[in-house]
Amino acid sequence: MTDARCPRCTGPLGENAASSRVTTDRSIRICTFCGTDEADRDVRGKAPIPPRDWPLPR
Ligand SMILES: [Zn+2]
Repeated sequence: MTDARCPRCTGPLGENAASSRVTTDRSIRICTFCGTDEADRDVRGKAPIPPRDWPLPR
């Protein structure tokens, strides 16, 4: 479990994984950084980055 990776950024998923909002059922687990980034994009009115464009370049 400790080596789980975030599919969005390929970074470590961590213990406090978030649920990505790009899917209606929120079944994709992402790291807290990506969860914050998605929330930030949402606040700014930007469309979420779809999973087909993952992993994101660093
Ligand atoms: Zn991530």
